[in-house]
Amino acid sequence: MIRRKLKSVRDDFIPRKEKYAAQLEVCGEDRNSYSKTDPDATFMRMKEDHMKNGQLKPGYNIQMATENQFVLFYSVHQRPTDTRCLIPHMEAYRETALPMPKRIVADAGYGSEENYLYLLGEEDGEAVADFLIPYNTYLKEQSRSYKKNAYNAKNWAYHEEDDLFVCPNGRKVRFKKYMKKKNASGFVQDFKIYECEDCSDCPLKALCTKAKGNRQVHWNPIYEELKAKARKALDDETLKQIYALRKIEVETVFGNLKGNLAFRRFHLRGLDKVHLEFGILALAHNFLKVAGILRMPSAKHIQNKRKEAKNDLFFAYFIILGTYRTAPSKPKRKTFRRAGRFI
Ligand code: SF4
Repeated sequence: MIRRKLKSVRDDFIPRKEKYAAQLEVCGEDRNSYSKTDPDATFMRMKEDHMKNGQLKPGYNIQMATENQFVLFYSVHQRPTDTRCLIPHMEAYRETALPMPKRIVADAGYGSEENYLYLLGEEDGEAVADFLIPYNTYLKEQSRSYKKNAYNAKNWAYHEEDDLFVCPNGRKVRFKKYMKKKNASGFVQDFKIYECEDCSDCPLKALCTKAKGNRQVHWNPIYEELKAKARKALDDETLKQIYALRKIEVETVFGNLKGNLAFRRFHLRGLDKVHLEFGILALAHNFLKVAGILRMPSAKHIQNKRKEAKNDLFFAYFIILGTYRTAPSKPKRKTFRRAGRFI
């Protein structure tokens, strides 16, 4: 019996343990999957989902900084989520000789507490740049249903002096304890936990909470403060216009690479080669953009073209009008009067 157990340990458990250790080493700390054909590639959810089954495919996450639709800088990541790519991207950017941007504009996928703190310099004391980055619930918060949801703790009255909320049933939701939570990227967030004094006989309980006991509210004061800062910037009329440029800035570049240049798949494997391949692609994009600008007509040329276009329109107008006039007219409708009725 013991011999058989020892044999299975020697022939099965130990080789398997070694295999898993080797796989974990390839995976590294930042990801939990890799491709057998390209160990540097991570399984990610792609926008191209032809089978419509949400299948994961091996790939790389490309982060790009643009200005006037020129690619200024890019970085290749093995992390599938954008949220965790901002800091390594900015750190790589800081190592270059490029000037630091005054403001970073990015979509809601980057609006995490960790990223906000990093950009404000709360992590290492040096502010990176100002930012225009919404958080994941920014748009939802604008909706009427969100603002009128009586069971959302954000809509409850807060009494600062007693540090308590008042719930829709008029009961006190008091501060109970502090709690630390580690998120998926290993960042530790501080929460204040509030708990309602008594939910046992509340007629609103089914609508308010799924908890068996009293309702708890997990409040992250640091993140709430950062979100308020982001919201204030995004609600500013001038900054709103800058944020709106994001769609025609960086999205256009990706659109050009994927749509016009039909670059939807890397041809090379391995992080270094992929980095190089995207660099060539970014260069091609920038060169084509310069070529497009050089080919752009001068203001005088545009004026002449406009004049020509006006003449063409005048000519076309006559042709269409002439055609209309020479078309045969409709025969007149005959009417017969019979017994006082028109047929
Ligand atoms: S369930 Fe608790 S927190 Fe919710 S309304 Fe009722 S008493 Fe208030």
